[in-house]
Amino acid sequence: MTDVLLAGGRVVDPATGTDRIADVLVRDGRVAEVRPRSDAAAPGGPDGAGGEAAAGPIVVDVTGRIVGPGFVDLHSHVHSIAGQRLQAMDGVTTALDLEMGLMPVDRAYARAADEGRPLNHGFSASWTMARAAVLSGRTSDADPFGDLDILNDRAWLGDSTPAQLDRWIGLLEDELAQGALGIGVLMGYAPRTDPAEFRAVAQLAAAAGAPTFTHVREIVEADPTTPIDGTLEVARAAMDFGGAAHHCHVNSTSRRHVDRTLGTIEAARTGGAAVTVEAYPYGAGTTGIGAAFLAPEALGAWDLTPQNLVLVADQERIRDEAHLRHVRATDPGALVIVEFLDERDERDAALLRQSLAFPDSIVASDAMHVTWPDGSTDTRAWPLPPGGQTHPRTAGTFARSIRMMVREHGLWTWSEAFRRCSYLPARILDGVAPAATRKGRLSPGADADIVVIDPTRITDRATYLDSTRPSQGVEHLLVNGCFVVRDGAIVEGSFPGRGLRGEPR
Ligand SMILES: [Zn+2]
Repeated sequence: MTDVLLAGGRVVDPATGTDRIADVLVRDGRVAEVRPRSDAAAPGGPDGAGGEAAAGPIVVDVTGRIVGPGFVDLHSHVHSIAGQRLQAMDGVTTALDLEMGLMPVDRAYARAADEGRPLNHGFSASWTMARAAVLSGRTSDADPFGDLDILNDRAWLGDSTPAQLDRWIGLLEDELAQGALGIGVLMGYAPRTDPAEFRAVAQLAAAAGAPTFTHVREIVEADPTTPIDGTLEVARAAMDFGGAAHHCHVNSTSRRHVDRTLGTIEAARTGGAAVTVEAYPYGAGTTGIGAAFLAPEALGAWDLTPQNLVLVADQERIRDEAHLRHVRATDPGALVIVEFLDERDERDAALLRQSLAFPDSIVASDAMHVTWPDGSTDTRAWPLPPGGQTHPRTAGTFARSIRMMVREHGLWTWSEAFRRCSYLPARILDGVAPAATRKGRLSPGADADIVVIDPTRITDRATYLDSTRPSQGVEHLLVNGCFVVRDGAIVEGSFPGRGLRGEPR
């Protein structure tokens, strides 16, 4: 592997607070040196072409550019080359499916290795599929596309008997032993289940030194009859069992009550609980239309009507309650855009910024796979063939967060942006996956997962209607020392991504 010298950029390392002009030397997949800028490093030809001919490093002039650790996305449901390339163009070097997870994880890692991935990847143990195996007799083949129709399976939505609980807790334990990065809990999709079940999961995770990643159940403001407030449930489990508890997309589960839910999290953190929280900067989410919280009778609690739902596949807006019932019954796994906040309304836009600005709030995308009209979900072609559909957050979460928080509102410095996008997410995994300790930093010995950004051009370009437009301003992206993006374009045939696996205690 040829050495790479990123010469003369503004190097930002959120781990140390470093922010200075320097050269970064990459060797054997790691950062070898960060040293004062040397004039001798000036490129020998256009974009360092001269360097490649000689035995020395490939020299890339990154003057005027920001050089930082690549983004670590804790919440990506993308299990495809196409989706990962969109994320690469958004600055992501590690894309992890920790909220839903896949089962069995061993199969998920093997498949990614067989097919090749541009980005580092990893998976949590899937609470959803472990419960489905026991309560509904489902076998799972780590299939991210086949599993969504479980969402309105009656047996799965119900409580577990003590014997059933024992069995699926055992399955999760096995998955942790196989290298799962924690336990992903889609509590919001089975929102009436006994809180004792969640406590059993939190207890197992804490004992194994593994985090939980939870899509919380309803908050009390949305449903006063909820068995427990969703945010409080996560905070309390972290307090009681001492494990690391990650609260997924606080923006979409809190909607207009984010003040209160962040207050609940803040109180737990002040009390010493290891609760972390993530957000994405969009006012609409995407999920399977069969989800419990999209039942016609549940929508009111969310300030929603059926017309706030748009089917992803053909961009058809749901017309009325009868239409909603029909699609839920006939195609419960169909992806739907849920407009839970109005981005054009300044009050709602401020709520989104508040979720991101909360101290230590992490940026995570909730990226979804891309589907084409013929039903295909991946391609090695780039640029992506036309007609693909996803949620714009797949392509734009990180560039959009930086545009909003750094460029437009000045709420984050660059160091703070890298802390939120790279450093803090990696720290959640330090305990379960020692290899994570080399991520989210830019000092000698760190993994050479590096993003080079043009600070004047960085922005998202994907929209709800044109959702696969890549972000702009990510000029270079290295994963384990190999270019995945170079000069603003995807490098064909570059699949240096590696599986990040848990190492059980
Ligand atoms: Zn979710």
